[in-house]
Amino acid sequence: MWAIILHGGAKTIRPGEELANRQGCLAALKCGAEVLRAGGSSIDAVEAAVLALENDPTFNAGYGSALNSDDEVETCAAVMEGGEWNVGAIAAAKGIRNPVRAARAMLFEEPILIAAGGARKFAEENGVELCSQNALAASGEEAESEERSHDTVGCIALDGAGQLATAVSTGGLEGSPAGRIGDSPQPGCGFYCDNEVGGVVFSGDGEEIARAMLAARVIHALDGTSPDGAVQAAIRVVEKIGGEAGAIALTPDGRFGWEHNSSHFAVAYEHSSMPHPLVHLCKQEEDEGHG
Ligand code: ASP
Repeated sequence: MWAIILHGGAKTIRPGEELANRQGCLAALKCGAEVLRAGGSSIDAVEAAVLALENDPTFNAGYGSALNSDDEVETCAAVMEGGEWNVGAIAAAKGIRNPVRAARAMLFEEPILIAAGGARKFAEENGVELCSQNALAASGEEAESEERSHDTVGCIALDGAGQLATAVSTGGLEGSPAGRIGDSPQPGCGFYCDNEVGGVVFSGDGEEIARAMLAARVIHALDGTSPDGAVQAAIRVVEKIGGEAGAIALTPDGRFGWEHNSSHFAVAYEHSSMPHPLVHLCKQEEDEGHG
């Protein structure tokens, strides 16, 4: 049995953006699900899915990233596997075409997180494609037409061998200070993954998510609570300190959980026994049986 769930960010989706969000999530899910269906690993699946989201300007990750206060793009990304808790992450990185590729290249290396110029150097040394500093910025039209906040993307997959993996990628928050790093590349904050317990990935206000160690809270809660219950509790915590967030979770037996207190949170998921994948733009859609 295999399973995969991904999200396109805790944000507001305007009516004109609904189709792009649904289609973008489903297309990315397909990339990940194909890997799993063919017997591939959860690490390859989350990388493939997040790569597709990074290449879609609908989402603020990879191509389509926000600009910081210096009008520059700085990206963060992370990949984690749940067997031995290996982590690879980059932060405040400039000029890496697909940040998730750099994070994946670091997964089984000693460092777990490299920032700024060091991240770019690591990417170059490991054959990851580079690009010009602002090649990833949303085009003027895209930047103006969307409320560009909280669009971190993320994915969790469970493969046929029972291995869990998570991946996260973000263009950060519009107008944030140069060098600012949020929750997304920090294990226990924006993501975590343990084959025995489950995986979780967040999007939203990075400072609040990190201060509250939300991913760690979900992992601890998953030990005795349903995945929906575990992420709901975490969202209540971040709300208490004024934060907005969304989270997805996946357990080792293939159960999904997700919740958000942003107005929308595009989520798509599929497991090996489902007749077809599902996509929702908010939790209410799922509760009402749409999607
Ligand atoms: N969590 C991300 C950050 O704080 C932002 C996002 O979710 O889009 O960098």
